[in-house]
Amino acid sequence: MSRYAYVNGRYVDHREASVHIEDRGYQLADGVYEVVGVRDGRLIDEKLHLDRLDRSLRELRIGWPVARPTLEFIIRELMRRNRLRDGLVYMQVTRGVARRDHAFPTQPVKPALVLTTKNTRRIEADAGAGIAVKSAPDIRWERCDIKTVALLPNVLAKQAARESGAYEAWLIDGQGNVTEGASTNAWIVTRDGELVTRATDNGILAGITRQTLKSMASDLQLKLVERPFSLEEAKQAREAFITSATSFVTPVVKIDGAPVADGKVGPTARRLREEYVRFAAEGEAVT
Ligand code: PMP
Repeated sequence: MSRYAYVNGRYVDHREASVHIEDRGYQLADGVYEVVGVRDGRLIDEKLHLDRLDRSLRELRIGWPVARPTLEFIIRELMRRNRLRDGLVYMQVTRGVARRDHAFPTQPVKPALVLTTKNTRRIEADAGAGIAVKSAPDIRWERCDIKTVALLPNVLAKQAARESGAYEAWLIDGQGNVTEGASTNAWIVTRDGELVTRATDNGILAGITRQTLKSMASDLQLKLVERPFSLEEAKQAREAFITSATSFVTPVVKIDGAPVADGKVGPTARRLREEYVRFAAEGEAVT
């Protein structure tokens, strides 16, 4: 079966899909993206992801490349063509193709739109053994609330984590606090049983999984506090975990080589992951 990508109005063979070398996303990282999880042919929190795409675009003064209902159609059409059951839909919008110059093009250009899908293994409700994270200084810019394709600091932190045997990097700000992961939001459960994650501001991406998990935590009557937490506090925590469209809720059992509590997956992360998997099965099936 051939796999398709969508590139500026056409469904093309994924292996042949390409954009112009003067695309400002390629030249200047002048673009934004979204990643939506798919489970059993159902899109997870599509509306919230498209709302965030809208916000990212507005912050950078890039127009919508197609109307929102058209994008919703393209997402579904690509899922159908690629028979996507479990995986991810990736969409990227850049300011478009123009003669290279840092400043915005003076002539109007059409924003460029690319979509791809990726099959992944079906995420199990069972949390497995959990993952290790490695800390790294957060050297990113001050608008981490915008989901731009400018991901070099995230790439380098993730690579350093992987080279040390850890799955994810936890980024540490100038005050010694954990901002978020390289591509995930960061959470802990304190010794007092408080569920803690940093409040959303320009220092982190407002994760959609994070947002959905907040309402689950309140349904489960967990005590949620949105505040900064330090790397030291995380190392002393009872539990830690990460959230994202790609990882759902994944327990963290090791930080910088040291076990979190007894080094086993804790009950809060386990429960929230189960809840999230249940929630992901709820939407309307596309494929
Ligand atoms: N933070 C960063 C830096 C990310 O790249 C991601 C993944 N998009 C997240 C957090 C998690 O966001 P979401 O739950 O919307 O996938």
